[in-house]
Amino acid sequence: MEQAELRRWENRCIQEESPRCAAACPLHVDARECCSLLAARRVDKAWAVLAKTMPLPGVLARICDAPCKAACLRGEKGGPIEMGALERFLAGAAQAAKPPRPLPRNGKSVAVIGGGMTGLCAAWEIARKGFAVTVYCTAPDVGVELPEGVLDGELAAMDRMGVTIERGATLTPELVEAQLEERDAVFVDSDAVPETLRYFGEPDEVTLGTNRLGLFAVRAGETSPVFQAAAGRRAANSIMRFSQGVSMVKSRELEGPYDTRLYTNLAKVEPVGPVAVGEGYDEVRAVEEAARCLKCECMECVKACVYLKHYKQYPKVYVRQVYNNEAIVRGTRQANKLINSCMLCGLCDTVCPEDFAMGDVCLEARRNMIAKGTMPPSAHEFALRDMAFADGDKCALARHAPGTTESEYVFFPGCQLTATDPGGAERAYADLRERLGKVGLILRCCGAPAAWSGRDALFQESLAELQSAWQGLGSPRIIAACPSCIKILRQALPEAEIVSHWSILSALGLPETALKAGGTLAVNDPCAAREDGALRADVRGLLDTLGVSIVEPEYSGELTQCCGYGGLLNEVDPELGRIAAQARADAVDEDYVTYCAMCREMIARTGKTAMHLYDLLYPGEGGAGARPTPGHSERRENRVHLREKLLRELWSEADGVAAEDFENVDVAFTEAGAAAMEERRILVSDVQKVLLQEERSGRHLVHDETGRFLASFRPAVVTYWVEFEKTDDGYLVHNAWCHRMKIKGGQP
Ligand code: SF4
Ligand code: SF4
Ligand code: SF4
Repeated sequence: MEQAELRRWENRCIQEESPRCAAACPLHVDARECCSLLAARRVDKAWAVLAKTMPLPGVLARICDAPCKAACLRGEKGGPIEMGALERFLAGAAQAAKPPRPLPRNGKSVAVIGGGMTGLCAAWEIARKGFAVTVYCTAPDVGVELPEGVLDGELAAMDRMGVTIERGATLTPELVEAQLEERDAVFVDSDAVPETLRYFGEPDEVTLGTNRLGLFAVRAGETSPVFQAAAGRRAANSIMRFSQGVSMVKSRELEGPYDTRLYTNLAKVEPVGPVAVGEGYDEVRAVEEAARCLKCECMECVKACVYLKHYKQYPKVYVRQVYNNEAIVRGTRQANKLINSCMLCGLCDTVCPEDFAMGDVCLEARRNMIAKGTMPPSAHEFALRDMAFADGDKCALARHAPGTTESEYVFFPGCQLTATDPGGAERAYADLRERLGKVGLILRCCGAPAAWSGRDALFQESLAELQSAWQGLGSPRIIAACPSCIKILRQALPEAEIVSHWSILSALGLPETALKAGGTLAVNDPCAAREDGALRADVRGLLDTLGVSIVEPEYSGELTQCCGYGGLLNEVDPELGRIAAQARADAVDEDYVTYCAMCREMIARTGKTAMHLYDLLYPGEGGAGARPTPGHSERRENRVHLREKLLRELWSEADGVAAEDFENVDVAFTEAGAAAMEERRILVSDVQKVLLQEERSGRHLVHDETGRFLASFRPAVVTYWVEFEKTDDGYLVHNAWCHRMKIKGGQP
């Protein structure tokens, strides 16, 4: 990622923008944090937040006219936060905060002319920056009556910060001239010396500079205490820049009030009116009022996405991590996992007010890692092997309908449906042939695992094979059932007409096999259907015709959440994949119906009853939601057997694929052994290869206590270890492991 691109993405995420209150406050007091602490009854901490940002906090907090109130977003839901009254409560109730520690003395001195709010605040801020400050005034006077000792307390704090106050001074242009001779800079409050502007010219609005070098001034007439304080701060910033010889105007846009882009969703916010201020808040009422603060933030994408939530930050932070990771030779484990765990589902993009697409960031990062050779080889290995298997001799197939030599349509059930419900795919194909006639069949993968893993070259290779198979059938219209296949093929094969099986059924009517059981079901929209309203409408129409009452989860339609399979999350981080599936499962009380094979598998594996629409339209034996979820090896066998069966029964052909030697190894598994293999994504065929190798080489280890054998084999890049015993029928496997380690001298 180029730095300019990083900046573009960073700028798009507005989570770090100020809430409206802080943006409207000329001093940018953190009202959000202050309210948050006060709502938690942390009175002293809340006061510390104010005191950190305000000059003379004991005074200003008591007299601030709270311009933040008019901007407060709570105003749209019951009334704005009474920030002024909360500040007054805190000023009276909290332990005095220590005055800020000034920067080390810089050896320069500044005169401030005027002892009102503007002059005193300017002196406070200038002193904080390390200048020696002398205030000339008749007497310090902030223009309002304060509780006894409050002003004196702040003046004492200023004294500790290095501010000298010269009382009884005669405030004239001559005094200004004299100070300009003596000091490094002078600041004048024109309310205190009304002739200033006549003598020295109008001050610049941004810098407060006049036409006398080193003289800064504000116009007279500002009555808002917080704007007076802000003018003092602006003067301090200018004097600092002036003394350092840096630009007087650069990057000053965020001094004083500004517009914020922060978005906060109010959809679920109930209106609550303000707590009456009366004579002022006591603690109970102040806490109640502070609790009304919405703690404004965006986080729309994080609320919606378990992946974003899991990494505990938000996209602006993540994109920086992705960028930094590219600078590290092999990346960090944590950042690589972050990049590879996004489900690429597009929900963030949909909910984000600024269209931040984390999926685009992560997919591009995967592509870059692959181009640079830094993608951890294990990240997507199993899924890519599975895709190669689905596209290999044992599974792939392209035929016209039996007895025909041309195809008007070709049915493309996709590799996940044939892996998980081969019977459903077979019955669907029979129905399509019966009602549409010349419907060919293509069995293979659409290439989604290659696309999701960022392997564009591999995807193009797979697509070229699919395209050639399709063209070999005369380029018929493709009927696809899987929303991911539909989405990918529409993008990658624009010359083909891709129609969804659901739109075909909407036109043809229900198949004879359809179960019109009625009942109520929640619809799970696959994330690939997010942008396909017509597809979603067809599915709902079919369910309606089946007599099903539909429940929509909170996240459905274009806001649907991924089941945890998209983007290969479940391969990269199975635990997070399970959390994503569980979130879908927990979203509704009703049983689910979906129309993506992997959504059905992921949700059903959590224990929730979930069925595929095929279970209602082309049911097999048993109840619609009772179909088991096959393991990794069984999924492969399902594809192989479907191809064999269809070739044999429809086209009277043998499968034409010679069995490999390892397939003749008879093996059984203990329950623990089978579970370990499933979890570690070890296939029966991997184990058979190890056992065949052991048979041929006689190389194994023997466990002293159990007498079991341990053998290993590395058919390609992964070494498999199998713990087994020999039985009369063959082998009983107790455990299996796999890793990418190569055992020197121990492996063939
Ligand atoms: S609701 Fe709270 S955070 Fe939001 S603008 Fe108002 S005071 Fe600030
Ligand atoms: S998983 Fe989906 S919603 Fe979450 S960041 Fe990735 S693309 Fe966005
Ligand atoms: S939705 Fe997410 S990415 Fe978009 S601005 Fe909000 S926090 Fe940032």
